Amino acid sequence: MKNPIYSVVIPAFNEQEVIEETYKRLSAVMKGMDEPYELLFVNDGSRDKTAEIIAGFCANDESVRLVNFSRNFGHMPAISAGMEYARGEAVFIIDADLQDPPEIFPQMAEKWREGFHVIYGQREKRVGETIFKKLTAKIFYRFIRKMTSVDMPVDTGEFRLIDRKVCDAVNRLPEKNRYIRGLVSWVGFRQTAIMYVRQERFAGTTKYPLRKMIAFAMDAVTAFSYKPLKLATTLGFFISIASFIYLAVIFFQRFFTETTITGWASTVAIILLTQGIVMMILGLMGEYIGRIYEEMKDRPAYIVQEIIGGEDK
Ligand code: UDP
Ligand code: MG
Repeated sequence: MKNPIYSVVIPAFNEQEVIEETYKRLSAVMKGMDEPYELLFVNDGSRDKTAEIIAGFCANDESVRLVNFSRNFGHMPAISAGMEYARGEAVFIIDADLQDPPEIFPQMAEKWREGFHVIYGQREKRVGETIFKKLTAKIFYRFIRKMTSVDMPVDTGEFRLIDRKVCDAVNRLPEKNRYIRGLVSWVGFRQTAIMYVRQERFAGTTKYPLRKMIAFAMDAVTAFSYKPLKLATTLGFFISIASFIYLAVIFFQRFFTETTITGWASTVAIILLTQGIVMMILGLMGEYIGRIYEEMKDRPAYIVQEIIGGEDK
């Protein structure tokens, strides 16, 4: 097959319940767009039948390709691989669970033809998700925006179209910890939004439990900002000032008043509090050092076991 105009990158981890429907809906949309396309599934070390089902699509449909990872590396590495292997002039990124409607691809493509390089889906609303997920997502996007100096749109995931130029620019960034939406914002170019409503998962369960969401937030902040370290400095500064003032008060009491100094409990409380803060800041530094260590080892973000479909690779 000659190089397609459109590539669709679909990361999938244990998605056997939805993948068939995803394939059908994506194929229908792409066929309607009347240009050569490829559906590039990245199987992120699924332990269910996901890989077999996708391999089945490859056997019958030459527009489907499958990149199989050697194990589970994570959502961001899976998308990175998709961007690396995509051959289209415009690359769509979409989750496998159909929470984001592929039916707005034509609208995105239209904007692309108008000359925009990145057309990201922005969630007007989320339906069918728990209040907890909605709330944490809302806080997450605003927090990241505050913490980083890059202009990142809120309520925006990886669901988007990116131009070949943007794809190449992001692929060239050497970092291994890849917060994709941040990197795409960082590279610049002409970007615009399309509003949409985020649906419930078509089937299956979320692969982002709270533990992974927190790790994801930590990765996002540390990859784009060292403001937390500056906060530590500020906090340390204010605590020192407060201690000096308090010391002055103690000296004053000792030499100029009759007040007897008791307050063992308050001393212990203050020690515990400051120790706690110091520990927290040490931990925070550890987070950054750990990430420097990770990057320095220079291991790849993912390992490909095999590629199925698409004859030349
Ligand atoms: N995913 C992945 N690797 C992982 C976790 C998730 O490739 O380790 C994929 C998953 O199959 C889905 C997308 O990333 O296509 C988003 O995951 P999910 O829908 O579970 O996240 P949520 O929408 O609940 O935040
Ligand atoms: Mg989802």
